[in-house]
Amino acid sequence: MTPLPHHLLPDNAAVGADGRLAIGGCDVVELARRFGTPLFVYDEEHLRARCREAVAAFGEGATYAAKAFLCRAMARLVHEEGMALDVASGGELHVALAAGVPAERLVLHGNNKSTTELTTALDAGVGRVVVDSHDELDRIEGLVAAGAAPPRVLVRVTPGVEAHTHVYVQTGQADSKFGFGLAAGVARAAVERVAASPAMDLVGIHAHIGSNVFVLSSFAQAVEVLADFVAPLGLPELVLGGGLGVAYVAGEQAPTIAEWATVLAKACADAGISARIGAEPGRAIAAGAAVTLYTVGTIKEVDGIRTYVAVDGGMSDNPRPVLYGSGYEAFLPRATDAERPRVVRVVGKHCESGDVVVADARLPVDLAVGDVLATPVTGAYGHSMASNYNKVTRPAVVFVAGGDAQVVVRRETLDDLLALDT
Ligand SMILES: *Cc1c(COP(=O)(O)O)cnc(C)c1O
Repeated sequence: MTPLPHHLLPDNAAVGADGRLAIGGCDVVELARRFGTPLFVYDEEHLRARCREAVAAFGEGATYAAKAFLCRAMARLVHEEGMALDVASGGELHVALAAGVPAERLVLHGNNKSTTELTTALDAGVGRVVVDSHDELDRIEGLVAAGAAPPRVLVRVTPGVEAHTHVYVQTGQADSKFGFGLAAGVARAAVERVAASPAMDLVGIHAHIGSNVFVLSSFAQAVEVLADFVAPLGLPELVLGGGLGVAYVAGEQAPTIAEWATVLAKACADAGISARIGAEPGRAIAAGAAVTLYTVGTIKEVDGIRTYVAVDGGMSDNPRPVLYGSGYEAFLPRATDAERPRVVRVVGKHCESGDVVVADARLPVDLAVGDVLATPVTGAYGHSMASNYNKVTRPAVVFVAGGDAQVVVRRETLDDLLALDT
């Protein structure tokens, strides 16, 4: 029955006396009318506040994981607020450089960096490369032998810790495509190779245990496991990855970035690690900053079973429910605080039964075709994982602040769908 909990809304959300939701001083239903739906609406000051919190907590070690949400405006915002950026492909690298972020502020990730990606990164002069395999070390040595400047590198280690999260987003376990395993001396051999190589400047160790982790002790446990390996190396940097969880649905509460940092700092101090601690939040910066707006197009009652409420997007703008079974809330921004006694399944418009937006959404009784329906906490891994499935055009993205809305990614057009055909 309960109304939407306000902690799931962006920081600068406000509900008017008439029940209508404003974000960053912009009426949300009005935004839908002006820019069309589906629409990603980001509270710009929320993004900035999370970046500042990360910088306050981790200083120079604060790095935004660009894969959570990236466009040029986002790259610029993150850079302006003092965070470095993780890029995990040539594409992410291209966008960050095109945004004007200095290469020195970029960290190149990836378990299969191509020679082209490495060449571009080394030529640009990226600040760090997180090395992931012996094949990659071979490629870097080859590029440096051919004249590239030796990069500063961190060696990615898989500590063998299973984070309490969805198995698809666990990355710290031994059976992983990422990094060098701590067990059996694999990581030690990699560190020795890098330390001895004139083609690389070894500055630290990197470990990332997974994503959407709520239990801070999982991070502390990873530090404990790493301690015997990391402490004696005495390297200047230790990057503990991203992965801090966020609350998506009623009843969930996530730790703050500051709380996360406190736990990491204590775990490192207890373990005798004196390296500068870095972290790479993606979700914790971007997820809660945005809501997605849809228009309800079809309401179908299946007698005795359920009601399907179909909206004008779906798995093409938010594949997380299909990929991970992720849950979301839904609400009507025209009546933000209304009771939501009606349980329905919100689905998209794609040709898949799995195309679910919210499996068991609670909505007001007067929900009707034509309503603008919103899902909160869609700022991470929504637009960045969007597709053109069914040749559905990708939504626009607006940043709102101080009563102004700025389109930072325009809506795809039907002609965009033809642009790559030869
Ligand atoms: C995905 C990823 C992150 C960010 O994870 P979040 O859960 O979004 O914070 C950080 N570091 C690495 C290496 C990653 O792969």
